[in-house]
Amino acid sequence: MELTKYIRRKSGEVRIGETLIGGSHPIAVQSMTNTATADVEQSVAQVERIADAGAPIVRLTAQGKREGEALADIVAKVREDGYSTAIVADIHFVPEIASIAADSVDKVRINPGNYRTSGGELEALIEKCRKRGVALRIGVNHGSLARHIVDKLGDTPAGMVESAMEFLRICVREEFFQVVVSMKSSNTRVMVHAYRLLVEAMEREGMAFPIHLGVTEAGNGIEGRIKSAVGIGALLADGVGDTIRVSLTEAPENEVPVAQMLVDHFQHREGEFEVLHPERYSPYEYRRRTSAPIVAHSELTDDYVVVDATSENPTAEWRAAILNADHAQPVVIRRKYEGSAEEVAIKAAADMGQLLLDGLADGVWVDAPQISEKDLHNIELVILQASRARFSQTEYIACPSCGRTLYNIEQALADIKARTSHLKGLKIGVMGCIVNGPGEMADADYGYVGAGAGRISLYKGKECVERNIPQEEALEHLIALIKSNGDWQEPA
Ligand code: SF4
Repeated sequence: MELTKYIRRKSGEVRIGETLIGGSHPIAVQSMTNTATADVEQSVAQVERIADAGAPIVRLTAQGKREGEALADIVAKVREDGYSTAIVADIHFVPEIASIAADSVDKVRINPGNYRTSGGELEALIEKCRKRGVALRIGVNHGSLARHIVDKLGDTPAGMVESAMEFLRICVREEFFQVVVSMKSSNTRVMVHAYRLLVEAMEREGMAFPIHLGVTEAGNGIEGRIKSAVGIGALLADGVGDTIRVSLTEAPENEVPVAQMLVDHFQHREGEFEVLHPERYSPYEYRRRTSAPIVAHSELTDDYVVVDATSENPTAEWRAAILNADHAQPVVIRRKYEGSAEEVAIKAAADMGQLLLDGLADGVWVDAPQISEKDLHNIELVILQASRARFSQTEYIACPSCGRTLYNIEQALADIKARTSHLKGLKIGVMGCIVNGPGEMADADYGYVGAGAGRISLYKGKECVERNIPQEEALEHLIALIKSNGDWQEPA
């Protein structure tokens, strides 16, 4: 990894329908529908709304045969309407559905945690993809690693990388290079370390597959935007990433401008900063430089040194300054930002997150006089929390929802936040489906998970404690559950 300046990683070119990613192509933005895929009319309308928002790639879930078969009608209708948007099928469990989807879509995403490397399943899918010019994504999720990987390497970045490498080696052996790879997690530190390790593992084995970046279960509103910007921005600053998806528990077309803002933000990263002590840095582990409390700027004391970044590559500028410092004082990173509160939040999170994820910075100072002190303080606290440096609010692990979601998750998340956001130090999972939800929110303290049409199951840790509650009653049951476990505080 280059510490002194920005260099975009060299990756191979992959064709996804009419969109080319990797190589010297621009970083492509994508999103995913949350309509029922079997509902062709609704799904086509949403694909087109996402395309109109500016995404050249749209993914749809295909959990069963009906959904897999509906994809052909969706692709046909979208083309008939004049859209060349690349269509991707998301397959979690059933290899036969991947095969059905590959007959109509431009790319198929499989999760190696739910797919076997033995028995020729992957080879058969590769052959099918090769024949029709369909690309493949090997999409690893931190929350759904295969049992043999967890037994060997644990639920770790190294395990995530090994999970991808097993599949990538088969692709190389089969001489199939139309492959993209991802390593998603809702934990930004795990995610960033996993992607960096993946890049290193691929380089070691002479692979240059392009990379899809994303933070899973980022939530909604300013928190969801900042969390995505921290994880994706840290890697874009490393020069890693050929296509990105910002996952928000909101209408999918809202994801596109946020993702595009991130891509644009990394267009110009000129500047070179000498690093005198590269041995003080490790991209693969969290190494806190000091043990000082992590601060937002209003909490600064005289013990902290403020380091400004004024160049076009603030991440490298701060990193070099901190690594070169021959003092042990804690450091607060500061930069001036223009624009709306949303723009400031996204850009500052994208620039500053990496310094916090790597343990180098001890605080942040977002300098934006056009924004109220209260909003700025909140943006700083959310950046610190999204970077896992300091937890001051309830953390929500909320999936973006997809065709598997059978209840109103956007409303549910808003209602849950309104009642529980004052609970410090708790993690609450709000997930669309019972199939993937419990695995993906594995480290949440409480879980609110879709169990069927308008039905919710509640979790305490990994254990399901109440099943199939009507959605209208589920929030009160969740609060009662939190109270009965002694984790409730009355709002101030
Ligand atoms: S957890 Fe959410 S995004 Fe993931 S499959 Fe279930 S509903 Fe879809």
